[in-house]
Amino acid sequence: MLDNQTHVINIVTNEKPVSKETSRILKQKLEKNGYYIPNEFDYNADLIICIGGDGSFLHTLHTYNFPNIPIIGINTGHLGFFQELSPYQLDEFIFRYEKGDYIIQELYAVGASVRTRTSCTEVLGINEVVIKGNKSRTVHLNISLDDSFLQRFSGDGILVSTPAGSTAYNYSLGGSIVDPKLSLLQITPIAPMNTTAYRSFTSSVIVNPQMTIKVYPEYTFENSLLIITDGVEYKYNEITEISLKMSDVKAQLLRLKDYDFWNKVKEKFL
Ligand code: NAP
Ligand code: MN
Repeated sequence: MLDNQTHVINIVTNEKPVSKETSRILKQKLEKNGYYIPNEFDYNADLIICIGGDGSFLHTLHTYNFPNIPIIGINTGHLGFFQELSPYQLDEFIFRYEKGDYIIQELYAVGASVRTRTSCTEVLGINEVVIKGNKSRTVHLNISLDDSFLQRFSGDGILVSTPAGSTAYNYSLGGSIVDPKLSLLQITPIAPMNTTAYRSFTSSVIVNPQMTIKVYPEYTFENSLLIITDGVEYKYNEITEISLKMSDVKAQLLRLKDYDFWNKVKEKFL
């Protein structure tokens, strides 16, 4: 232990039996090492350990409102890109944690304010915010960067990805993988139309993090849109404007010191 104060660690787990079993073993080991594991989430804790897949990691951040506490994941899911550890590394982790053999990777969220005629809602995505048509309709979106008009997009929708989200849905759409040390937002088209009737950029566009991306939807028959943040979908009627920006809100992802982003990318994708 680094000092005499009791260290409090939140363990958050999904419902999978293997996650629950890992959580049980981890709790025992941590308690034996003098840590306190509260039954309810403690917002003043020193660390969060999240057991599950990348989805559980994202879900934990959203559920607890992006707490300002370092977080590390144990992967019991499929891919586990955020999830640093395997369930076999519990002793190794405790040892290295106590030695301070880790770094904190700051992951900034993308924030969107969604304005309708009657409301304004703020949403956040650690991976991305997606704007899509309801009922699989095409959408027509006028997109400006700050107040300078960029394009009238037509197609299934657009995705605005953070560097951390670049390896997720963004990558499946042909967007670029981004080094997490860079600060930027990537606007990636989802099935853009390119005909004599409609013209849209076919590749993603990368913008600097000070810029506000403003989206003004056009409606014909269908007047609702879907806003999807980190895989969770919300439907809005008559959105007048969506402004997206790099947020001040961030996750503090704890990584073991030998973590190397590009090695992880090779390991998980090639
Ligand atoms: P899910 O359907 O299980 O996620 C799809 C896959 O994306 C899973 O294998 C997940 O890893 C992986 N993933 C999540 N964040 C990632 C990241 N930053 N880098 C690399 N891979 C990542 O749903 P979910 O687990 O709740 O995750 C939500 C995310 O799914 C969304 O934020 C979106 O990016 C992604 N998504 C992808 C597609 C697509 O690729 N066509 C479509 C919809 C949504 P685990 O297996 O460890 O969970
Ligand atoms: Mn998942």
